[in-house]
Amino acid sequence: VVELNALTKEFQDLVAVNDVTLSVKDGEILTLLGPSGCGKTTTLRMIAGFETPTKGEIRLTGDDVSETPPYKRDTGMVFQRYALFQHMTVADNIAFGLKMQGTPDSEIDSRVSEMLEMVKLSGLQGRYPAELSGGQQQRVALARSLIIEPSVLLLDEPLANLDKKLREEMRMEFLRLHEELDVTMVYVTHNQEEALMISDRMAVMSDGNLHQVGTPEEIYLNPNDEFVADFIGQAT
Ligand code: ATP
Repeated sequence: VVELNALTKEFQDLVAVNDVTLSVKDGEILTLLGPSGCGKTTTLRMIAGFETPTKGEIRLTGDDVSETPPYKRDTGMVFQRYALFQHMTVADNIAFGLKMQGTPDSEIDSRVSEMLEMVKLSGLQGRYPAELSGGQQQRVALARSLIIEPSVLLLDEPLANLDKKLREEMRMEFLRLHEELDVTMVYVTHNQEEALMISDRMAVMSDGNLHQVGTPEEIYLNPNDEFVADFIGQAT
């Protein structure tokens, strides 16, 4: 569903992403894993359309989307810092994407109820983001992205702001939603353990370069080079 061909992003004289070629298969969870500053987020933002590649091409379900604005890309994005609309209730936050698409109100109401149930927030639809815990806010962000039924869900360190217990709980939640909704996920993390646990395949990056792509087992047992061996070896 997602193909990156020789994708490069330069910021002035810094090469943030260097000639990355990678394809994400339909229905899989692919993690982009690497230390801070290695270009994971920039790669994700290019897939979403928030950042324009300096060179290279991005295809989504076969189409070259280089000229396609973010809201027409059939991708949903979940940010590390939820990015919820603070002045809107939970229900309005979740409904936002459907409203933008001009979905009739009656349908919006039933889809929002369905989503609330799916992410286990039933009963909280009238609250404002500030009245929710971090985990609950991340569930709202997830519901808001999923309600438009994107082909690809892009997640940028979605658990980084949560404590350990909540992180584990939300990780299971992602896996459950992935099963139920059959959505392809590209998941950015710097946490080796998290990547090993949730990935179908992982793509290991450092300094803008893609080092290796493979299943957690392949990468753990047969690292391509010293960087990958060292970095994966630090998993706790
Ligand atoms: P982190 O986990 O810390 O977010 P990352 O792997 O996601 O790291 P990126 O955010 O993609 O890394 O950043 C890659 C490099 O590009 C970094 O050196 C960063 O400072 C630089 N960079 C990112 N965005 C910009 C920008 N808008 N202008 C200039 N430099 C940028």
